[in-house]
Amino acid sequence: MAKIIDGKAIAAKIRGEITAEVAKLATQGITPGLAVVLVGEDPASKVYVSMKEKACKDVGIFSDEYKLPAETTEEELLQLINKLNKDRKIHGILVQLPLPKQINTEKVLEAISPEKDADGFHPYNVGRLVIGKPLFQPCTPYGVMVMLKEAGVDLAGKEVVVVGRSNIVGKPVAFMCLQQNATVTLCHSKTRDLAAKVAMADVVIAAVGQPEMIKGAWIKKGAVVIDVGVNRVGEKKLVGDVEFEAASARAAAITPVPGGVGPMTITMLLYNTLQSAKRR
Ligand code: NDP
Repeated sequence: MAKIIDGKAIAAKIRGEITAEVAKLATQGITPGLAVVLVGEDPASKVYVSMKEKACKDVGIFSDEYKLPAETTEEELLQLINKLNKDRKIHGILVQLPLPKQINTEKVLEAISPEKDADGFHPYNVGRLVIGKPLFQPCTPYGVMVMLKEAGVDLAGKEVVVVGRSNIVGKPVAFMCLQQNATVTLCHSKTRDLAAKVAMADVVIAAVGQPEMIKGAWIKKGAVVIDVGVNRVGEKKLVGDVEFEAASARAAAITPVPGGVGPMTITMLLYNTLQSAKRR
C-alpha cells in the first residue's frame, strides 16, 4: 500500500515555521499584511475568505478585509486595488474569484501590483515563473511542490505527467516541475490515450475536476500520485480526480482527498505574504 502524503501535517509544520518567522519580524516592528477582497455573495467564496482570514490570524499576519456588494463596478474595484497597491501596511493583495459578470477579471488581476500579487496570477509573475526566476508563485501548485519535497521526491530526470492545463494549477505546476529538472508531459481534454500517458509517469499530478477519472490501474507501480482535484459527490462526500483505493494499491505514495493538497493552498498564501513582507 502507498504511503500517505499527509497535507494536513505538512501544512501544520509550515504554518508553525511561518508563525515563528512572523514573530521574529515583529521584533523589527514589521507585521506582514494581507488584503482580502471579496465582491458579492458567492457562498463558497465567503467560506474561502473566512478560512483565509482565520489562517492569517492564527500565524500573526494582519488581514484587512474588503467585502464589497455584488453590484460594485469595475472602476470602484480598480480604485480599491490602486489604494491597496500604495498601502504600506499591505504586502499581499488577494481578490477572491470568481468576480461578478460586470467586472473584467483579467483587468483586475493585472491591476494588482506584481510586488503584492500574493496569488501569483499577474502575467509578470507568470512570466517570471516560466523563465525560472519566480517572485510570487501560485499557491496550489506551490503547495504541490512543497509536498513533493517534504515527501522526499527528487524530480530530477523523472517523468512527470500533469493532467489539466488551467492557468491556476496545471500550467504553473508543469513549469515548476520542469524547473526541478523533470521531463514533463502536460495533458488535457484533447490528449489521446491518457491511460498510456499516465502509465509512463513516475509522478502523476491530477488537476482535472472530474471525480476519480484517473483509474488506479493506469498508475505505474511505485509512482507518486498528487491529487489536486476536489469533487463533491452526493451530499457530503469529497473525492479527488484519482481512484484513490485502486491507485494506492500500486503507488509508492499518494495524497488523500480531503487532507492532501487542500490544506497546502492557504498555507502557501501565508508563506507568500510573509516572503513579500521580508522583501520589503
Ligand atoms: P479547470 O476546470 O480550470 O481545468 C481542468 C483541466 O482539466 C482543463 O485543462 C481540462 O482540459 C482538463 N480536463 C477536463 N476533462 C479532461 C479529461 N477527460 N481528460 C483530460 N483532461 C481533462 O480546473 P482547475 O485547474 O481550476 O481545477 C482542477 C481541480 O482541482 C478541480 O477539482 C478543483 O476543484 C481542484 N482545485 C483544488 C484546489 C485546492 O486547493 N486543493 C485549488 C484549485 C483547484 P481543457 O483545457 O482541454 O479543457
